[in-house]
Amino acid sequence: MLICSAAGNIQSSGQSLFESEWDEPTKLNRASRIRECPYNRELQKENMPAILHHPSQIDFDKPGKHHYRLAFHVDSGWGYSLVPITVINGLRLAADGVKPLGLAAFGGTHGNEWEGQVAVKRLCQELDPSEISGRVILMPQLSQSACAANERVSPLDNVNMNRAFPGNPCGTISYRIANFVKSYVFPKVRIVIDMHAGGREGGFALCTSFHPVPDAAQFAEIAKAASLFDPPFMLIYSSQMASGLLTDEAEAEGKIAIGGEFGFGEGLNRKGVLHGYEGIRNVLKHYEMLAGDVIKIDPLRPSSPRLVDARNLEDYIPCPYTGIWEPLVDLGEEVKEGQLVGRLHNFSDYTSTPFDMHAHRSGIVIMMCARASCQEGVTLYVIAQDARI
Ligand SMILES: [Zn+2]
Repeated sequence: MLICSAAGNIQSSGQSLFESEWDEPTKLNRASRIRECPYNRELQKENMPAILHHPSQIDFDKPGKHHYRLAFHVDSGWGYSLVPITVINGLRLAADGVKPLGLAAFGGTHGNEWEGQVAVKRLCQELDPSEISGRVILMPQLSQSACAANERVSPLDNVNMNRAFPGNPCGTISYRIANFVKSYVFPKVRIVIDMHAGGREGGFALCTSFHPVPDAAQFAEIAKAASLFDPPFMLIYSSQMASGLLTDEAEAEGKIAIGGEFGFGEGLNRKGVLHGYEGIRNVLKHYEMLAGDVIKIDPLRPSSPRLVDARNLEDYIPCPYTGIWEPLVDLGEEVKEGQLVGRLHNFSDYTSTPFDMHAHRSGIVIMMCARASCQEGVTLYVIAQDARI
């Protein structure tokens, strides 16, 4: 059991010394009391990442590539969620006049979305600090407990990590991880990439995504960076659908914040991993953080990514009643206003006529419910319109 020195510092309130230090960042000078866990020497002999109990133990400026697992205590017992984080400080000199930037990439914000986890894990292994300028922070399984359980939300607190931002140092585990990202990772980077997929609920046409942020220069730069993933679609999506997203927080800080949907169905889409992995490498190359030229990721698709817009909630169509959804169009397909998109079946009376769902506008079906069995209120599909910047 990997319990280090302070794990025994349980106070009568049930909180450990670490919890109080997390709660009060101004007391970080106390971090000097947090000693290196002797067990890490054993881990390092096996080339395993060090386990750290406090973020101040991560040296975000240390040259080279360093793998860690950051221990977040679980609320229900004595133990930790060990969240992986790789920090690379490049050894390559930046080109003349280029100020090296920072980039953070996240997978596993939702645990049952695998393309981002695999793409970011591969980058942890393969990015060579001798080829990097600036800082790269990689977190392949941000909600590690959700990833371990293959669930969208953490089973430790039933919180959706992508609704937990800006986090809370006194909150449950998901809020504390979000607070770590906000307090320790975001200040170190300018570019933030959060890779998603449809999980068990929704199917998406492969796309990068971003909100319609009000700052025109920031918006244009986000769109440019999102195009470097060479996806078939780039989606401008509604800020009203939900709040507390990782990218919400990053874009509010003025960062180049990019999301994306790289697969669905709790599977591992081969093209999704490819676009995610090479897309992040392309972004690094674009900002001269990685040597080499930006590549065309899908040479079989000669067209540029198609920019589509679903910024209004009226384009997100909820299921009118619980039933069995029969789609009649494919993801990424163009539909005309009034076209039959799908049918909803009611098997409590199998002789009943299905309820026909017609497109409320012409556009692209960018998202559709991936399950046949749909509950009242879930989003059945989203129709986006072509857009230009
Ligand atoms: Zn997701």
